[in-house]
Amino acid sequence: MTQTQETGATNANVDRAEIAKFDALAGRWWDREGEFKPLHEINPLRLGFIDQHVSLAGKQVIDVGCGGGILSEAMAQRGATVTGIDLGEAPLSVARLHQMESGVEVDYRHASVETMAEERPGEFDVVTCLEMIEHVPDPSSVIQACAKLVKPGGHLFFSTINRNPKSYAFAILGAEYVLRLLPRGTHEYRKFIKPSELSAWCREYGLEFRNQTGLTYNPLTQRYRLTAHDVSVNYMVHVTPTWTGDADS
Ligand code: SAH
Repeated sequence: MTQTQETGATNANVDRAEIAKFDALAGRWWDREGEFKPLHEINPLRLGFIDQHVSLAGKQVIDVGCGGGILSEAMAQRGATVTGIDLGEAPLSVARLHQMESGVEVDYRHASVETMAEERPGEFDVVTCLEMIEHVPDPSSVIQACAKLVKPGGHLFFSTINRNPKSYAFAILGAEYVLRLLPRGTHEYRKFIKPSELSAWCREYGLEFRNQTGLTYNPLTQRYRLTAHDVSVNYMVHVTPTWTGDADS
């Protein structure tokens, strides 16, 4: 439908209101007490989950919807060569500024995952796409593009929020209204994704679930933890391609 002016960002699978939401908050991306506090707090947990299933050192990684680079930098610090892509200009500027301060090298690009998949198919050992697919009009297109980006024998990681009454209560009412962990309007219930839906899309594009874990928040201790068997609200999956040898194109 619309062709954006920016190079590499031609694609209809983007909700401009979502991008504007993250753009507006971008200046506080690295403030550990700010709006992105939850991402900072879950980062060591999700990094641990990823590194447990695929040792990051020496790997070519693409971080899809990287935002201000919290996960991208952490993976680079574990020795991966990381490309971070996002369609938000402001989060990418913040990510680039932050890397100058931290000295951690990440190649940040303003590009859609669909465009990257056309340009660099089969180039990445690891594809991460965390807390992003619940913000796009067509999550299955993102899964398809991620499947194109991964090498045969590679690994993918997705995280999102489940859709059921409990996730509505916890992720929207609890997190945005009661505990105010996130700004109101961060998430829309109807865009949440059930693990069964995610796994159906994965199967459609030749990917299969290997491992999954929940991420739960305890308001009493104010801590997050990985909960292997409770994927009722936030969850993360490790997925691998079913094909081997040369990927067809
Ligand atoms: N993955 C990061 C940031 C999550 S916030 C992390 O977990 O730390 C969601 C990010 O998705 C924002 O940076 C937003 O700009 C980005 N985003 C939303 N829609 C997008 C799209 N269609 N293409 C690329 N990035 C998108």
